[in-house]
Amino acid sequence: MTYQRPLAVALLSLGLWMGLQPECQGQEVSPEVRWLQGYLRIDTSNPPGDEFLGAGYLARLLHSQGIAASFLVTPEGRTSLYARLPATRGLERRPALLLVHHIDVVPAEGKWDFDPFSGELRDGFVLGRGAVDVKSLGIAQLAAFLALAKSPEPRDRDVVLLAVADEENGGGRGTRWVLEHHGDLVSDVGLVLNEGGANKVVNGRLLWWGIEVAQKRPLWLRVRARGRAGHASGHQPWSATHDLLRGLGSLLALPEEYRVSPPVREYLAALAPLQPPSMAKRFAQIDEVVGPDGLTKKLYPGMTGLFVDTVQVTVLRAGERINTISATASADIDVRLLPDTDADRFLERIRQALGKDLRVEVLVTSPEVAPSPIDTEPYRVLAASLKPEAPVIPTFISGFTDSRYFRERGIPAYGFSPFLFEPQVLVGIHNANEKIPVDAFDRGVARMKAAVRALVTPSETAR
Ligand SMILES: [Zn+2]
Repeated sequence: MTYQRPLAVALLSLGLWMGLQPECQGQEVSPEVRWLQGYLRIDTSNPPGDEFLGAGYLARLLHSQGIAASFLVTPEGRTSLYARLPATRGLERRPALLLVHHIDVVPAEGKWDFDPFSGELRDGFVLGRGAVDVKSLGIAQLAAFLALAKSPEPRDRDVVLLAVADEENGGGRGTRWVLEHHGDLVSDVGLVLNEGGANKVVNGRLLWWGIEVAQKRPLWLRVRARGRAGHASGHQPWSATHDLLRGLGSLLALPEEYRVSPPVREYLAALAPLQPPSMAKRFAQIDEVVGPDGLTKKLYPGMTGLFVDTVQVTVLRAGERINTISATASADIDVRLLPDTDADRFLERIRQALGKDLRVEVLVTSPEVAPSPIDTEPYRVLAASLKPEAPVIPTFISGFTDSRYFRERGIPAYGFSPFLFEPQVLVGIHNANEKIPVDAFDRGVARMKAAVRALVTPSETAR
């Protein structure tokens, strides 16, 4: 929109008179905040993802700094972005460092107090879907990448920037597809930084930073029933919908089996020294707390998922009308497996509970993988970058990330978040009113730049 000049002057004066915030005038915020705002304005809700829009935006930012980027596009048009900075010539190279984040976000459902795709700055926050999960991390990685590109300092690793599609739906058309179809682009990668890092703030005090090294594994299923359609007034106890409900009922009636898997034991042992005395003992001797049927002593709320393979029926589809029997019915089930659960055996148990009349389709599965090692130089460098502020814990998470695809290939992947978040900020993840504090974002960008710089600096000059 263009204004006549006198009108524009009048509007500007009015704005100044009304006390426009400095940030509204395009000053006082970092370039990274501006980049994040632009990224949040792009709707990459998955489905459908439309990651090409986000990839195009990142490519333009890279091009503006003189860096080439490539689009990796699936036959369906799902787009990931790839860029590479070479190591300094003449140095003996270490394996490449890969910085990866996902372009897609979960849909902005629920009631929002602001436009989820405005990227607006308000009251010290950048607002929008993806502000925490995980476009902020993407911009921090991009900023670290661009800082290296400008730096005259020697580096002995190539650095690869990868922004992927489809993470929120399991990564089949994102990271997994890229690794299967463009594996040559990342064949020299020996180290991955991804989402999944965490921190713990209690009563305003930072207790610890977490670098994620292990996680639960998704087993996503679709269960289908078929039967005779008809008028609901008929006597027909065996319909598709009823078969499905009976099968799901038996599935949910299966007893849960509690146990402590090794990565969870290690995680809790690392956390124990940071707990109050009574809880410290329970964490350190977790095998005495977890029995086959459940916990024998109290832990913190929300921890039981660390000890069971969870089964969650999340989507049901059946008839549309009250007086019509549907010929089909289906359910989606989100199963999360512990690191060492035998997926085939668990699936067989599910099939048996559901009964032979229901068809089970596996939508997403993931093999057992070893945790990323912590006795490595990169882990020590990452931990050292966070340590001045709080102890650093190798963590296990109940969620999953694309890191599993790299771990499957034996490549250490670390969930590394440079952002210090208060608990109320984390509430926005996959929820309404997602937003990130500007100061936490800026400080995180600085941490990411420092960590990445330390990872690529030749060791003899690093410390
Ligand atoms: Zn995410």
